Amino acid sequence: MPSYAIDEESFRHGLEKLDASSIVGFKQINHSDMILKPDPGTFQILPPDYDNGQRKNARMICDLYESNTSSTSRYNRDSRGIAHKAAEAFSQKGITHTNWGPELEFFVFDAINVYPSPFAATHSYGGSGYSIESKESPWAKGNVSTAIAIKEGYYPSQPKDTLETFRKDVCDDLYKYFGIRIEAEHHEVATSGQCEINLAYGEMKAMADSIITVKNVVKVKAKRRNTVATFMPKPIFGDNASAMHMHQSLWNDNINVMFDPDDPVAQLSQTGRYYIGGILDHARALCAISNPTTNSYKRLVPGFEAPVHLCWGIGNRSAAIRVPMYNRNQERSKRIEYRVPDPTANIYLLEAALLLAGLDGITRKLDPGDPVDENVYKLSASKRREYGIGALPLSLKGALDSLSSDNGFLVSTFTKDFLDRYMELKYGEYTAFAQTPTPWEVSMYADS
Ligand code: GLU
Ligand code: MG
Ligand code: MG
Repeated sequence: MPSYAIDEESFRHGLEKLDASSIVGFKQINHSDMILKPDPGTFQILPPDYDNGQRKNARMICDLYESNTSSTSRYNRDSRGIAHKAAEAFSQKGITHTNWGPELEFFVFDAINVYPSPFAATHSYGGSGYSIESKESPWAKGNVSTAIAIKEGYYPSQPKDTLETFRKDVCDDLYKYFGIRIEAEHHEVATSGQCEINLAYGEMKAMADSIITVKNVVKVKAKRRNTVATFMPKPIFGDNASAMHMHQSLWNDNINVMFDPDDPVAQLSQTGRYYIGGILDHARALCAISNPTTNSYKRLVPGFEAPVHLCWGIGNRSAAIRVPMYNRNQERSKRIEYRVPDPTANIYLLEAALLLAGLDGITRKLDPGDPVDENVYKLSASKRREYGIGALPLSLKGALDSLSSDNGFLVSTFTKDFLDRYMELKYGEYTAFAQTPTPWEVSMYADS
C-alpha cells in the first residue's frame, strides 16, 4: 500500500501519483499518468497487525480517473467504476439497491513452499498438521492423532481445528477496526486448514470493498503467525477446493423483489426466476470473470460440492444456483446463491457481471424452468439432456471462448476496450499454463 500526503485538494482533484503502466492491463509507458481519487467513506485506521501495534497507518480506497482530461473522466478499466455503472443500469428497472452476501473460503498453510505434489505426498503441510501419508496409515505414523482425514474437516473442534483462534481473531479485527459484520466462520471440509468466513449481507459497493479488506486482513494476520493464507481455489489434488458463493437479492426500497409468498415452490417471484434464467443463460461466459484462473477449473469437477452443471435447485448443493429455504424472515432473507465463483474473482467485476446477466434474464423473460431436486452429479447424460441441463466450461480457455461469443450483455457497461484487453491478458495466461510441463506430465510421460 503506498503512502501519500493528502489535503483538501486531494479529495477535489485527486492524487496525481499513479504510474498506470506498472499495473498489468492498464496503460502504456508513454501514457502512464493517472489520478487516484480517495473515497473518504472508506477511511480506516489499520489494525495493530499492520504496523506492530502502532496504529499509525490508515487506508482509503481510491477511484481511478484519467489525467490530462477533465477530472470527471473516470477510467473505463477501473473495476470499481464498472460495478458502479452496473448498479446504475439496474436502477432503471426500478431496483433501488441490491444486497450481497459472499461466503469466502480459503486455505491457511504452515508454509507455501512445502506445497504438496500428489506424487511426493509425504509433507506435513497444513494448518492442521496433516500429511497425505498419514491418511494411508493413520496409526503407523506416530504423532498423527490430530490429523483430519481428507474431506472430513467440516466443523471440527480443537485440537483438530488448529485455526479456530486465528479465524476468531480475524473476525474480531474486521468488526472492531473496519465495522465489517461477520455472520459465521468455521473450518471447511478440506483437510488441511481450509477456512470459511461468511460476511453479513450488505450493498453492492460496500460489500465489494469489504471483500478486498477481508482478504487482506486474512493474509496479514496469517503472515503474523508465520503461516500463509491462499485464495487459490484448488491447492490440493483430491480434496475440496475454495469457493466464493454469492448470495444476491434485489430490492425496491424495503420490498424484496425476489420474494413472492404465493409461490408454492420456492417463495420466489417471477422476477427472481428471470434473474436466475439470465445467470444460467450466460453462466459459461460469466466463468471468465467468476472463475478467472487456470486453477479455477481444477475446482469445478464432480464430487467436491463445487458445481459442474447448469441448473437451479432448492437447498440443492449440487446445482449451480440454490435458493436457500429457511423458515425465519422469508421476505427479508429471500435470495439466490450462485455457487460457481471462486475467490480469485475480482469482486467488483463479478458483482457487475452477475447483475447484468440477471438483468438480461429479466429483460428477455428467461424462465429457468423447474428447480432440480436430484443429485446433479449423479444424473445420467440422457436425463441431463431431458432436463436441458448444460455444463460449465472445463478450462479457462473454454470460459474465454464463451465470453468471446457471448458478451453483448456486458459490453455497454464494461466497454469493448476493457473486454478486449481482459481477454487478451487471460488468453495469454491460459497459453502460458498450457505450454508449461507439470509434475503430473513428468510422472505420466517421462518414461515414454
Ligand atoms: N468448497 C466447496 C466448493 O468448492 C463448497 C462447499 C460449500 O458448500 O460450502 O464449491
Ligand atoms: Mg463453504
Ligand atoms: Mg454456500
